[in-house]
Amino acid sequence: MTTAVRKHPDNAADFVANDSRAHWHDQALWFVRSKRDKMAATLPEWELLRERAAGIKLHTMSRLADLLEEFERNATKLGATVHWARTPAEHNDIVLGIIQQHQATRVVKSKSMLTEECHLNPYLERHGIAVTDTDLGEWIVQLLHEPPSHIVMPAIHIKKEEIGELFHQHLGTEKGATDPPYLVTAARKKLREQFVGAEVGITGVNFAIAETGGFVVCTNEGNADLGVSLPKVHIACMGIEKLIPRLADLSVFLRLLGRSATGQPITTYSSHFHGPMPGGELHIVLVDNGRSDILGSPEFRRSLNCIRCGACMNTCPVYRRSGGHSYQTTVPGPIGSILAPSRDAKTYSSLPFACSLCGSCSDVCPVKIDLHTQLLTWRKEIAVRGLLPWTKRVGMYFAGKVLGSRWLFTTAGRVGRWLMPKLPRFLVYNRLNPWGKQRELPPMPKRSFRELYARRSTTSKQEQADG
Ligand code: SF4
Repeated sequence: MTTAVRKHPDNAADFVANDSRAHWHDQALWFVRSKRDKMAATLPEWELLRERAAGIKLHTMSRLADLLEEFERNATKLGATVHWARTPAEHNDIVLGIIQQHQATRVVKSKSMLTEECHLNPYLERHGIAVTDTDLGEWIVQLLHEPPSHIVMPAIHIKKEEIGELFHQHLGTEKGATDPPYLVTAARKKLREQFVGAEVGITGVNFAIAETGGFVVCTNEGNADLGVSLPKVHIACMGIEKLIPRLADLSVFLRLLGRSATGQPITTYSSHFHGPMPGGELHIVLVDNGRSDILGSPEFRRSLNCIRCGACMNTCPVYRRSGGHSYQTTVPGPIGSILAPSRDAKTYSSLPFACSLCGSCSDVCPVKIDLHTQLLTWRKEIAVRGLLPWTKRVGMYFAGKVLGSRWLFTTAGRVGRWLMPKLPRFLVYNRLNPWGKQRELPPMPKRSFRELYARRSTTSKQEQADG
C-alpha cells in the first residue's frame, strides 16, 4: 500500500532520543540472538540444514506456479476452499465475504503478518466485525492501537511496566503490577472469553505443502489451535511464497525456524491442518500482493525464500538501535528493507540505507538469503532510478571526483587535516552532517596514512642498512 511515510533516519532519530529504551531494546534483541547462536551450535548439521532449506526454496520458486496449482488441487480434495487474491483489497474482500456469509461478527485471529500487510483488522472493524488478536504480543499492540514492531515478538519494544498500566486500564489489574505471570493470567482469562464467543477463526500459514494440500501453523501459545477449534469456520491467509513441495521437506524448516527465531529447539505448537473439521469449513486465501513481481526479478527473487523467523532483525545493529516502527513497514529489518522497496521503491527508498553492510543478517538467515548483497543492489537501483535525496546526490558526486583522482584525494586530505581544527563548530556539526548528530569527530591526525607508511618503510630500510 502506498502511503506517505517519513524516512527511516527521521523515525530512528525519534527512537534513539530515548537512550535508555534504545539501549534496552538493543540488549533484549541481542539476548535472543545469543540464544539462537547457542541453539544452532548444538546441531552439528546446522549448516547442512541451511543449505538444504535454501535448495528446497530455490526449487520451489523455480516452479511456484505448478506447485501452487498442485497445492490447490490437493487442498480442495481434502475439502478446503481455495481463494486467490492479487491485492490486499481482494484478500480483505474475500475474508469479509466469508465472515458475512455466516452472519458472524466476532473473529479471533492468531499471528499473521500477511493480514497485517493487508491491513485486515481495520478493514473488518470498519464493516462492524470485532477482531481479537490472540497472540499475546499482538493483542498488546492491538490494545495500544499500534502495529507490531517485530514479526516474531510484536511487542518487544514495550516494557512490562507499560503493559502493567495497559492491563490496568483495559483488564482492571492492580495498578503498578508488573509481575509477568500475574499479567499473563489476566490476559489469558480475558482472551478465553474471546475464544469462546468467536464465530470465525483466522490464522496465518507458516508452511503449505503442495504434495498433501495441508498446511502448518507454528505458535508458542497454542492460540491458533484454540482459535480454530471452537468456531466452525477457519480462514487461513497465506502469501504464495509459503509453499514447500513435499511433506518430507517440512522437518528441515521446522528445525530451523524455532532455533533461528527464539533459540528454541522447536516452536511449542506446530499444528497441521488437513481439510476442515467435521461439519466445518476451511478457506485458504492465497495472496500475491507483488510477490510475482519479486519472483520475476533475478536480483531479489531469493527474498521470497524468507520463513519469517526474525533472526535478521535480532542481529541487525540498525534494527536493534532504531526499533521496528522506524521502518514503517509490516516486515521491518533487513528483509523488510528488501521487500518494501520491491513494492514501492520511491516511498521506501531510505530503507536499503538503514544498513551497516556488516553482513550479519546473511550469516544468521536460516534459508541463506544474501540479504546484505541485495540491500547493496537496492542502493544502486535507487541511485539509478534517481530516488536519492539531493544532499546524497551532491555528496556522492564530489566524493566520486575526489576518490577518482589521487592528486585530489591527497590534497583534500592535507587541506582537511589543516582546516578542520580551525573551523567553527557550526560549520562541522550541522544538518548536512547527520553522522555528527550524536558523535564527535576524532582529532585530526598530523599525517596521512600514506605519509606514515612511507616514513615507516624508510626508517625500517635505514635500520636494515645499519645492520
Ligand atoms: S530473511 Fe532470513 S533471517 Fe530474516 S526473517 Fe527471513 S528467514 Fe529469517
